[in-house]
Amino acid sequence: APGTAADLLRREDALGAHNYKPLNVVIHRAQGSWVWDTDGRRYLDCLSAYSAVNQGHCHPRIIGALTEQAQQVTLTSRAFRNDRLAAFYETVTRLLNFEAVIPMNTGAEAVETAIKLARKWAYEVKGVAHHQAEIIVMDGNFHGRTTTLVSFSSEGQYRDAFGPLTPGFVRVPYGDAAAIEAAITPNTAAVLYEPIQGEAGVIVPPEGFLTALRGACDRHGVLMIADEIQTGLGRTGQWLAGDHEPARPDVVILGKALGGGVYPVSAVLASRAVMDLFQPGDHGSTFGGNPLAAAVAQASLEVLEDEGLPARAAELGEYLRGRLRAMNSPLVREVRGRGLLIGVELHVPARPYCEALRDLGVLCKETHETTMRLAPPLVTTREDLDWALERIEQVLRG
Ligand code: PLP
Repeated sequence: APGTAADLLRREDALGAHNYKPLNVVIHRAQGSWVWDTDGRRYLDCLSAYSAVNQGHCHPRIIGALTEQAQQVTLTSRAFRNDRLAAFYETVTRLLNFEAVIPMNTGAEAVETAIKLARKWAYEVKGVAHHQAEIIVMDGNFHGRTTTLVSFSSEGQYRDAFGPLTPGFVRVPYGDAAAIEAAITPNTAAVLYEPIQGEAGVIVPPEGFLTALRGACDRHGVLMIADEIQTGLGRTGQWLAGDHEPARPDVVILGKALGGGVYPVSAVLASRAVMDLFQPGDHGSTFGGNPLAAAVAQASLEVLEDEGLPARAAELGEYLRGRLRAMNSPLVREVRGRGLLIGVELHVPARPYCEALRDLGVLCKETHETTMRLAPPLVTTREDLDWALERIEQVLRG
């Protein structure tokens, strides 16, 4: 490794912005569900880079696609075409069952893209007066960190120091379809929601929420936009977390695991008619849809499909939640989630327990003070989970 842990930490903190409070483990290499620090200590990754490495670290097939493409051509810009985009488009629209796609890089960028699409739809299709479009969002939402996205965050820290805020958003309680319907006006373009709120602490909405939301959107002519950046691509035991109900959104936003944890790739999926609202010059990105991204994303999707990872997440998640509940720890208020997206809410701050788990070789991170999020790669074996469960039990016993 290029330095000792203490030295690397000191040098990083001396020069870098301090906008994160990481657990102090300096990772040097990774394979599958395991990572190794600079001292050669091994840890089971139970965070998966916030669900970006669903396929496991350094998956050979994804790394193969990366290195092969890296030697052919990596960036053309969309001024020209590249020979990898068509196959990526075919794979992503086939697996997610949508007619059209627009590629971007980060999650926040893809959410911004969906917002632009919804606003243009409101003006051109719904007939909303110019600059009057409203988008309904949820309390506790997390869609990214751009100035527009933090404008409608319910977290003061994410929002308040960064105004002036972008107007045009209306916030309602999460999981309450009646409240959403009541907030719809003739100017409402879309409802933007997470099918499970990840950053808010793995908040699962009541059964029937998405179906009721679909009904409200249909009754009032409003686009239903699912942010599946953290929940999509197998994490919750289905291709999309929204697939647990029959209701289908009009627009789906993907990111994180679309790049297999090796390269930032995001995308927005919609019908042909909605996507065709984007005309040449309306939107773009220098790196969006570059051949390296397309090759990596296609391999990342094929790994999820060929290895049956959505079904594996469903089975392992059921097992993990069952074992966590059976611990009957007095520290635990609730174990919740779907598939391998699990929140363990404690009665006390979770940070010290995440630090204790790190010392025992299990990496997870607190979210919203009292919740431990457990989201191992979908390729994790049951034996590996048992290894982690032993340590989690040890820590939660006190
Ligand atoms: N939307 C959701 C639901 C997320 O969980 C995240 C990241 O945590 C984002 C958007 C933002 O993605 P990115 O960090 O790639 O901009």
